[in-house]
Amino acid sequence: MIKTVDKERGLDVAAIRQQFPILNREVKGKALVYFDNAATAQKPQVVIDALINYYTDYNANVHRGIHTLAEEATMAFERTRDTAQQFINAESREEIIYTRGTTEGINLVAYAWGRQNIKAGDEIIVSTIEHHSNIVPWQMLCEEKGARLRVIPVDRNGELIMDEFEKLLSSKTKLVAIGHASNALGTINPVIQIIDAAHRVGAIVLVDGAQSTVHLDIDVKEMDCDFFAFSSHKLYGPTGIGILYGKRRLLEAMPPFQGGGEMIKEVTFEKTTYNDLPYKFEAGTPNIADTIAFKAALDFVNEVGKEKIRRHEEQLLGYATEHLEQISGLRIIGKAKEKVSVISFVVDGLHPQDIGILLDNRGIAVRTGHHCAEPCMRFFEIPGTVRASFAMYNTKEEIDELIIGLQKAIKMLA
Ligand SMILES: *Cc1c(COP(=O)(O)O)cnc(C)c1O
Repeated sequence: MIKTVDKERGLDVAAIRQQFPILNREVKGKALVYFDNAATAQKPQVVIDALINYYTDYNANVHRGIHTLAEEATMAFERTRDTAQQFINAESREEIIYTRGTTEGINLVAYAWGRQNIKAGDEIIVSTIEHHSNIVPWQMLCEEKGARLRVIPVDRNGELIMDEFEKLLSSKTKLVAIGHASNALGTINPVIQIIDAAHRVGAIVLVDGAQSTVHLDIDVKEMDCDFFAFSSHKLYGPTGIGILYGKRRLLEAMPPFQGGGEMIKEVTFEKTTYNDLPYKFEAGTPNIADTIAFKAALDFVNEVGKEKIRRHEEQLLGYATEHLEQISGLRIIGKAKEKVSVISFVVDGLHPQDIGILLDNRGIAVRTGHHCAEPCMRFFEIPGTVRASFAMYNTKEEIDELIIGLQKAIKMLA
């Protein structure tokens, strides 16, 4: 049994765990300890039910039908947009574009905004610790346009060197694409400071919120970012749906991303007129079921309370950091002052993958490898790390299991 209510924290972890059916399963004969939340979070029953209910009760295509099922599906599908708008405090629902996830959101901006606004000699700035999804689309754009990709360096703690960032900024800078929180190290980047500085030279800023939206309060208006992308599946929702937020003025000036159904007003062979926001960017039949179920995930997080989740995760991170540091030969990679509940580490002389396999034998799921952040790993001169990342349903007891598993693994592999 897991420890129940912790009155100090106010988060009833036992009750929360009961909402996640997968946490009842065993792996290799042991109770599952799921510490791969930064790759994808598990789904509460309400999300699974929302998927089943849609297919059982009101499966229909959205927006076009006048029959009852189509109306019900459309209503539910559009309600997610309102909830997502509130979740990140966007000005209007028209600024909330459905995508397949963060990667598609960033590619949408690189394609639609980038091809219209970037020219030879322009500069785009990213950081050393970006996810590949926030590097490669910009690299492709730069190659096509003859623009230049500049990179903000980090220090040994995994924090951006802000003085160096300021030096990179110039009238050539057109866009800064920055992760809000690093999936590889956990570093929370000072996005408000970055956005202010970028705006001062007339550049726009895209924030990759894939890793931050589940942990931090997001307010795109206060942040004043121009674009913000995130994924449902890291937020306890289904895969295959994400949100791109963009300032209305920018979205309106952008050409569409893909052509097809839904994104048009009128089509003739001479000229097609495009639909209004947000539909201009939503070509084809969307991912209806997962979009509807995403609302259930957002409602669930709101109900539990982000502040409570944050405090719980901070305690887990502190506890894990303290205990991992006591293991001899273990080195934590990423020691930023501000971190989300992601902890990466290496052990002298041992390959992360071997550690991962031995932990899996004890039912503990961690991620090993470069975490889609090869330039970041290269900076630290390591091939990869073992990464444990914590969610609202994780416990200190599970971290104890991790520590025991690691000690045993180190003994076996030494
Ligand atoms: C997971 C992740 C992405 C990519 O998200 P997808 O859901 O795979 O599109 C991008 N950036 C960061 C920081 C991530 O953690």
